[in-house]
Amino acid sequence: MSWKNIISHERSKKILQKSILEKKVAGAYLFWGIEGIGKSAVAIEFAKTLNCQNPIVKENSISACDNCRSCKQFANLSHPNLHLIFSLPPAKNADSVDSAVSKLSDEQIELVREQILAKSQNIYHKISIPNATQIKISAIRELKRNLTMTSNILGWRVAIIFNAEEMTTEASNAFLKTLEEPHERTTIILISSKKEMLLQTIVSRCQQLYFEPIPDAIIENCLIEEYNISQAEAKIIANFAQGSINTAKEFLDSNISEYRDNIVEILRISLKNTYRTELSEKIEELINTKNKLFLENSLRLLQNWFRDCFILITTCSKERIINLDLLDRIIKFAELFPNADYLKIINEIENSIYLIRRNVNLQLIVFSLFLKIRLNLLSK
Ligand SMILES: [Zn+2]
Repeated sequence: MSWKNIISHERSKKILQKSILEKKVAGAYLFWGIEGIGKSAVAIEFAKTLNCQNPIVKENSISACDNCRSCKQFANLSHPNLHLIFSLPPAKNADSVDSAVSKLSDEQIELVREQILAKSQNIYHKISIPNATQIKISAIRELKRNLTMTSNILGWRVAIIFNAEEMTTEASNAFLKTLEEPHERTTIILISSKKEMLLQTIVSRCQQLYFEPIPDAIIENCLIEEYNISQAEAKIIANFAQGSINTAKEFLDSNISEYRDNIVEILRISLKNTYRTELSEKIEELINTKNKLFLENSLRLLQNWFRDCFILITTCSKERIINLDLLDRIIKFAELFPNADYLKIINEIENSIYLIRRNVNLQLIVFSLFLKIRLNLLSK
């Protein structure tokens, strides 16, 4: 693992390296931006570089050697200077209401260990423990003790707080006090995709680094290189991922082109002369196949289809087409319905997705959506 293994975020990487080189490392940082783009990966690499015994310095860059004892401890996230704080499940021990690691059951501790191991093996792994939704005050107290401990350890202490917005009010107030008493050679990195939920007093004490969503083209290349999938499929997934590497990887496991072919087939049926019974059956099948997210994603794929039609008609260019592998079919479709109001259809699909999330009658929503699309396409 090194800086170059982390996709994108060149600006943040540069700022952090510069701060080490100029000995201006801040006492607290806030890394913010959407989920799943590598904020914690950057935080861990920064901590590793700060602690490396033989860092490689080249002009304006500094990287960890990945060979020294410290780097090896970082490779499995077991370095004594590294403190990882994340939400823990409520303790199972009956006499305790707290949730610091020391109060967890053996089984829960094993879960935590597994998560840290998974994170060390995949920098984009999202640490997630069942029923863990809060960072409690006990965790912050524990951190405080660890940071004030005098020790002979060399290097920098780095605490990384994952999903910092999950700190309870009590924990946030205790944490604020920790921020107010900075320790030497210590830096705390808050990570959050919901910055607005943090106490303003905490935010204002941190040096903020914004992490931008990763551009589709970069995600696309990463998927092609790492997973050996076709460019057509990578393009569809990258479009879905909305800037998040994690989401892209989740979609990799689902058979996205099959889902798309299925929803386009339903569209085809909805445009036939007699369609009601068949359409109704197909929709029922779609709804019952999997969960709501699957239904939502299928509609997104349909939305992409119409988006491609719209782009073809308005720009006459193939450059921004998502479903490149179906280009011939999309061209034919767009030629068949040149006067359709594609923006309206895209909007109707968006509305339906909104209704699906609100748990209204799914069959009814999807059926009436297809009727609206039919009407839009055939009446023009
Ligand atoms: Zn090293």
